[in-house]
Amino acid sequence: MNSAGKPGQQSNVQEYTKHPVKMIPYGRQDINQADIDAVVEVLRSDYLTQGPVIPAFEQAVASYCGAQRAVAVNSATSALHIACLALGVGKGDVVWTTPITFVASANCALYCGATVDFVDIDPRTYNLSVDRLAEKLAQSTGNLPKVVIPVHLSGQACDMAGIHALSQQYGFKIIEDASHAIGGRYRDEPIGNCRYSDITVFSFHPIKIITTGEGGMALTNDVHLAKQLKLYSSHGITSSKVDMHPRASEEIWNYQQIDLGFNYRMTDIQAALGLNQMQRLDEFVTKRNIIAKRYDQLLSGLPIVRPWQHPDTHSSFHLYLVRFKLAEINKTQRQMYDELVDLGVGVNLHYIPVYRQPYYERMGFKAGYCLQAEQYYSEVLSIPMYPRMTEAQQDHVVAALRAVTRA
Ligand SMILES: *Cc1c(COP(=O)(O)O)cnc(C)c1O
Repeated sequence: MNSAGKPGQQSNVQEYTKHPVKMIPYGRQDINQADIDAVVEVLRSDYLTQGPVIPAFEQAVASYCGAQRAVAVNSATSALHIACLALGVGKGDVVWTTPITFVASANCALYCGATVDFVDIDPRTYNLSVDRLAEKLAQSTGNLPKVVIPVHLSGQACDMAGIHALSQQYGFKIIEDASHAIGGRYRDEPIGNCRYSDITVFSFHPIKIITTGEGGMALTNDVHLAKQLKLYSSHGITSSKVDMHPRASEEIWNYQQIDLGFNYRMTDIQAALGLNQMQRLDEFVTKRNIIAKRYDQLLSGLPIVRPWQHPDTHSSFHLYLVRFKLAEINKTQRQMYDELVDLGVGVNLHYIPVYRQPYYERMGFKAGYCLQAEQYYSEVLSIPMYPRMTEAQQDHVVAALRAVTRA
């Protein structure tokens, strides 16, 4: 990538100078002809929504993950909302999650009229810290959480066994926000099997591991919870005779609304894309791991902390998170960010601690609430990572990182 410096070569080489032709994005979907064909096939069929492809997609994800049931919805945000409802979250309840996540992991509790609190992160994995959780539970008698929502940041599983053990002791439920993590593994089993949780949620937004455009799914091994999830995803309406209330036989009751739900349904068009993407899920995760390994090698020696992996986990590597040793680099995070963007590297920040958002600050949260989370936030950037990333693109990213970290 140092071609610009070679004697006799044009110095206005576009790829690694001030104004690159094209930004390397931090993530990108992988759509092939078979995906397109699968979607077109649905468009030509009788059902654009509520047809046969949705149950096929649900079945494919459930069996891949080893979960009993799966309910497809129009986003992970919707899945988190109905997961909270199915677990009975309501007014007066408290839900705990990590501050280092997308806002949806916390907002879902607010949708239900509950309040939210945050547990600081583990400084090595950046996931919700089990030690901090244990401490906070011990100090919170009387105001214990109804649900804890661990988030598998970047695709690396949380210490689920530890969180599960605490749930047994303190009687809270667990929703895994696995929006980043389909295809990842924990203790040699697929994330999503709900061995240590009540419900697991996936996102199929294009930036995530597999996509349906917009979309999400909630998995569970509990038949009753699955039924509630399904009900909440479609207006609280059932057409199953056993669930309907008795009515005079001369009246026509094809369906009944038995609870208050939403229209959170996925379409068959989306499910067709998702179902076809499932065939390449392992390939996507393998490629992401190859890219991560190569980053690990190429970035060694730079003043950067590479993403540490707990031996219990096999990450789907939705993100490759680097922490800058800013004191050694002698620049601010903002400078690094701007310089990398100038060099055509689409860096991003995952995440601003949720409680620092103005909406959350209005609830009374203050800067400094979770110290590890804030330290992480002030040093981290996500660098480009997606299955179709080429070695040349990766070399460009590494060269840019080498250039901007040069003290
Ligand atoms: C993307 C994401 C969500 C929301 O997913 P949508 O499908 O866009 O609603 C929730 N939680 C986390 C951690 C995410 O990254």
